[in-house]
Amino acid sequence: MIEGSLMEGTGGGGVTFLSKDTSLLKTIFGGGSRTINAHACLHCSHLELTVEFTEKDRKRYQEFDGPQPGVLDRIA
Ligand SMILES: [Zn+2]
Repeated sequence: MIEGSLMEGTGGGGVTFLSKDTSLLKTIFGGGSRTINAHACLHCSHLELTVEFTEKDRKRYQEFDGPQPGVLDRIA
């Protein structure tokens, strides 16, 4: 799980997700934020939010989060 915050998109865009971890932000998101999609249930009014992570984001996160040493050195 990535801790972050929701931000209003610039230029009339929707709400975006921004990681609180600046190293994650730089390493995985390239300093940017990711679009958030909301899905509401008409039956129980449940609201679910999903973040539009890319395959690249997931791959980078796996590398970043991985147990192997030396990864952090490589990124730095
Ligand atoms: Zn429902």
